Amino acid sequence: MTGAAPPHGPRVERLAVSVYRVPTDLPGGDATLSWDATTLVLVEAGAEDRTGIGFTYGSPAAASVVERELAGLVVGHDAFAVPAANDRMSRALRNAGRPGIAAGAVSAVDTALWDLKARLLDLPLVRLLGAAREEVAVYGSGGLTPYDDAQLERQLRGWGEQGIDRVKIKVAESWGRREARDLRRVALTRRTVGDAAEVYVDANGGYTRKQAVRMASAMAGSGVGWLEEPVSSDDLTGLRMVRDAVLPDVAAGEYGYDLPYLTRMAASGAVDCLQADVTRCGGVTVWLRAAAVAEGLGLHISGHCAPHLHAHVAAAVPNTRHLEWFHDHVRVENLLFHGTLDPGGGTVSPGASGEPGHGLTLDRAAADRFRTA
Ligand SMILES: [Mg+2]
Repeated sequence: MTGAAPPHGPRVERLAVSVYRVPTDLPGGDATLSWDATTLVLVEAGAEDRTGIGFTYGSPAAASVVERELAGLVVGHDAFAVPAANDRMSRALRNAGRPGIAAGAVSAVDTALWDLKARLLDLPLVRLLGAAREEVAVYGSGGLTPYDDAQLERQLRGWGEQGIDRVKIKVAESWGRREARDLRRVALTRRTVGDAAEVYVDANGGYTRKQAVRMASAMAGSGVGWLEEPVSSDDLTGLRMVRDAVLPDVAAGEYGYDLPYLTRMAASGAVDCLQADVTRCGGVTVWLRAAAVAEGLGLHISGHCAPHLHAHVAAAVPNTRHLEWFHDHVRVENLLFHGTLDPGGGTVSPGASGEPGHGLTLDRAAADRFRTA
């Protein structure tokens, strides 16, 4: 093959990391975990006079991984060759252990590099990736198990007032030991949002296999259309068994820290819709590949949490179903960043403002109040 070598971009000159801990506005909890704060680990990658940002939600230890394991691999790297940087980071973590905290760190750096490249080229990220759609549907996500009825209703009505007609609540409270309360909260949700809205539930792996099938049947009168992690995501056989036995779509994938995990889940017939989290799976680079794996198997993909980091990638693939407008993360992203999106009417339009990159910039004065490292 002849011809000129592909053009290189400028070199990545800076990589900075910081940590923010934002207390929740309401008590946080689902089937198998409770929380009172959300931690965001932020990466800023700089070249020339531009800065790209990426982040991951999770342990502040991800910041140490960025500083100690990744920064030295990325600074000096071609800012246009993001998949090469991703590959370099992933390979370097072999003995440190790539899944989990390290994958969150890689995801934050990868996303910052994609954002940096788009800003260097003065393009919205979705235009750099190539748009497959103008709008991405969102669903309101929250309905956490510690909420009382008034808190749940208020949250559901808030989404309704924004025109968001898909909502998700948590079930399988206390590892599936509060079945009656689960059913009552699902029925309350349906009554609150009306017949036309889509109602989803997320069990966070809290039910057993047969219990999940029985509960799906008991929720049928409330018209539940989406059953997320009815059993542990590690139980692919159980997920498939539940999927084959219930009417709602079964979804999972939020703990996918690499492409082989997401491929195994999708290829095993365990889900109707593959969820992937751009802040965990390896960033923009790997999320796009996961979407292609899902597409090849005839499956939809949905963005898990971190809504503003999913908007552009979700608009760049044809098989996106929606992204998760998760209450806790929407609140954090609105607190820490300028340039957040409007989900009015139940969709977001990434790139419509013409802002380069994913459009978020850190509100340093606001963010400093929550900074821990
Ligand atoms: Mg979930």
